[in-house]
Amino acid sequence: MADDVRVYAIAMRTKFRGITVREGMLLRGPAGWGEFCPFWDYDDAESAPWLASAREAADLGWPAPVRDRIPVNCTVPVVSPERAAEIVAGSGCRTAKVKVADPGSSLSDDCDRLAAVRDALGPGGLIRVDANGAWDVDTAVRAIRDLDKAAGGLEYVEQPSRTIEELAAVRKRVDVRIAADESIRRAEDPLRVAVAGAADIAVLKVAPLGGVRRALAVAEACGLPCVVSSALETSVGLAAGIALAAALPELDHACGLATLSLLTADVTTHPLRPVDGYLTVPTSPPTPDATPHVTDEIETRWHARLARVAHSSK
Ligand SMILES: [Mg+2]
Repeated sequence: MADDVRVYAIAMRTKFRGITVREGMLLRGPAGWGEFCPFWDYDDAESAPWLASAREAADLGWPAPVRDRIPVNCTVPVVSPERAAEIVAGSGCRTAKVKVADPGSSLSDDCDRLAAVRDALGPGGLIRVDANGAWDVDTAVRAIRDLDKAAGGLEYVEQPSRTIEELAAVRKRVDVRIAADESIRRAEDPLRVAVAGAADIAVLKVAPLGGVRRALAVAEACGLPCVVSSALETSVGLAAGIALAAALPELDHACGLATLSLLTADVTTHPLRPVDGYLTVPTSPPTPDATPHVTDEIETRWHARLARVAHSSK
């Protein structure tokens, strides 16, 4: 039923995760709309949890919230220090997440960007960095010391190295807290991250974990403080992240759910944007009443992908 499935393609404001256009599908079920938007470098098997997450939203809805607003961080991609300061100042957020260790920037560029972020945020703000597993252990230890200094103190470093063993080794040698992101998502057993002493904080993303309920189970199993992050969804998918953040028993850190600003448009006339550093938990899930038109080629490609992933998930 064409009316129950919509495909979107929305340009990004800044290249992020190597992409300039975010694409995905919106699926309608009895409980509302879900978003299916695995990146194109995910194969059909890796995309199955993304579909499970979209189906949970569409078919079941989510567990009841225990809070009505979620503190969020702003996101600073690899941009000039001037632009970084503008993003932070314009966001209203008290926590900034800064991308570091990108192939397109050096450690000294990262330090300059962090210093600009600290200036814009003031001494009371929190700064976290995300290296997306780029460093080996020794490089991580050196880089974290320099970045911590440039930032005037870091809240935490997300995924400094790739493996759980490397994270544990880095964590022993630095004072800054370590957050696990990719390690939580790819772990067969998320508990292993905590048992290995690899992280102080777990980053949870609803879609790759297979839905809000599954992410809540992961949070309970790993026993670490959690931060909920988006996977660069539209408001429909972001609502699932907000539902998770709203349902977690404890929430001590700002979440990475203020990512709509990375897209040039949304699929709804009621976008889930933060005000003064907080997202309000919506009372009803967003409806895609303003989905931008896409080409037949994109439409066909996504319908084929949905059919394949649905088939492989059976
Ligand atoms: Mg991350």
